[in-house]
Amino acid sequence: MSQTMLAAEPKKRQEESNAYAIAVRQLEAAAHYLNLDRSLLEVLKHPRRELTVNFPVKMDDGSVRVFTGYRVHHNPARGPAKGGIRYHPEVTLDETRALAMWMTWKCAVVNIPYSGAKGGVVCDPKRLSVHELENLTRRYITEISIMIGPESDIPAPDVGTNPQVMAWIMDTYSMHKGYTVPAVVTGKPIAIGGSEGRLEATGRGVCVVAHEAAKMLGFTLEGARVAIQGFGNVGSATAKLMHQAGAKVVAVSDVRGGIYNPNGLDIPSLLHCAGRDGCLQAYRDAELITNEQLLELDCDILVPAALHGVITARNAPNIKARIVVEAANGPVTPDADEILDEMGVLVVPDILANAGGVIVSYFEWVQDLQAFFWEEEEVNAKLEKAMRKSFAHVVQTAEQNKVNLRMGAYIIGVKRVAEATTIRGIYP
Ligand code: NAD
Repeated sequence: MSQTMLAAEPKKRQEESNAYAIAVRQLEAAAHYLNLDRSLLEVLKHPRRELTVNFPVKMDDGSVRVFTGYRVHHNPARGPAKGGIRYHPEVTLDETRALAMWMTWKCAVVNIPYSGAKGGVVCDPKRLSVHELENLTRRYITEISIMIGPESDIPAPDVGTNPQVMAWIMDTYSMHKGYTVPAVVTGKPIAIGGSEGRLEATGRGVCVVAHEAAKMLGFTLEGARVAIQGFGNVGSATAKLMHQAGAKVVAVSDVRGGIYNPNGLDIPSLLHCAGRDGCLQAYRDAELITNEQLLELDCDILVPAALHGVITARNAPNIKARIVVEAANGPVTPDADEILDEMGVLVVPDILANAGGVIVSYFEWVQDLQAFFWEEEEVNAKLEKAMRKSFAHVVQTAEQNKVNLRMGAYIIGVKRVAEATTIRGIYP
């Protein structure tokens, strides 16, 4: 092997694990198809605003710890910024930038009037008490309060955050204002202006596109073997709804590892302990597997629903699923994407597959602004209609341009944002 090849390898690996480098690479590929003006591409590549905050939190033992958090707005063209807040030890500014950019394309693909944002705090929420988590959340929100608001930037849950965290966000913001502002955040509990159907919305959207993708390949969810990586909000809701649709969920996992039974897992019983440490590992009727093994299982549909960069050029050749539905953001790297394409694996891209969450977040925001709330059936029906319509549009665009579904989705999303950016013009 030549010296240059040896030197190129670590750089390639670095790129492979840097979500922002991946996001820019995906944008450049879409820009190529759209024949996008170079200066416009330059604008779209860069996040508009980035805030890094270092803030102290009083811990239960009386000590004070300093945490680092971020909030990033990507492109403002199509509306207020919208994006989740992640609590995870590996949160970085680059990851937050990538997630914000993906949010921009996602909102445009499903045609909701938002631009992309994302936030995060470097912490392990499982190692914090409820009191510490509340202190951390209230101080982080205060620090980024110059960016958020119902007209400017509306946060939502992501990895490591949940409806309770959203409730503290809503309360903190409202305390500063002196009146209650439910529309500042989505994914809240119903009792304080949350929407029916929001908790399961991302998983419901994942199931809708999985159903449509299976139809394309000539099979149905009924009896299909499904493996799901991640058993948090998205993974557990996906498992529940897949099970209800008659699919055989053969494997699920969390950060500790996974469980596998080729005859199907008892999902209703697993849902009782979802989110609790050791829940999956205590399940008796299955083989313990690693997260890496889960991805390579013999199944019809693979749903990565945890973190980004888990399917790379190294393990892509071992994927046996016919369909990969990207419930997580960025689980398949561009190199892996090419390999899966060549293998004939149908990949439903994240910016379409997991858009159910932001669609119902949008419904929640609309309901909060109107102070008029909808029945769950109405929310679910509107969500399913939006997902089916977007899926059909992506398939049609992909066929017209002879590209895969990811590029089909990017062509739609980037084109809409580019058009809005151009029409608005450059200020001043
Ligand atoms: P969550 O925190 O509720 O669950 C995350 C799950 O992943 C947990 O089961 C956790 O144990 C597991 N996990 C964490 N680190 C892991 C690791 N290193 N290896 C394997 N598993 C690991 O988060 P969530 O809200 O379900 O989000 C999951 C994914 O879906 C993320 O990529 C997120 O960006 C994306 N997403 C979430 C929403 C939403 O509405 N919550 C919407 C769109 C996309």
